[in-house]
Amino acid sequence: MSSDEITCPFCGSGNGCDHHLASIDLGECEIYAGYLDAIGPNWSEEPIRLDDPIREVFLSAFSQKLKKLPFEDSPELMKLWKNSRIRPADPDEPIIILGAILASFLVARLGKAGSICINNRVDQLWSSIEVCELFAENPKEVVCRYFSSLKSELGLV
Ligand SMILES: [Zn+2]
Repeated sequence: MSSDEITCPFCGSGNGCDHHLASIDLGECEIYAGYLDAIGPNWSEEPIRLDDPIREVFLSAFSQKLKKLPFEDSPELMKLWKNSRIRPADPDEPIIILGAILASFLVARLGKAGSICINNRVDQLWSSIEVCELFAENPKEVVCRYFSSLKSELGLV
């Protein structure tokens, strides 16, 4: 199966309708299409980064050497925590989280927030990659729900 055979479960379109939330590479956790990869509504915003709140909280937990983590009650976030490490010498990316683990976390959370995942295999020059094509009736609402539940679990609100 290749990406051009994927059709939207909401409108049946085969090429990039407004329901396409994202294409997530399940190995590297790269997000490369759809609403999440698009330029914001004012053509000036940065693409939305789903893992920013996680990195922010992890970085402060690492640097403060917290005894009690604010997200201890979440098994999924604890799994991310155990699979992340700090690299303070790189201010652009001080927190490293293993791509495949972050990808499965994001797909599960966006599913809980109301999106549908269609598994896809995209052929590249020498290999193929496993991709989750996420669709939602209203991608913007899904992203809002995702962030509000994530932030409360992280202790940010
Ligand atoms: Zn559609």
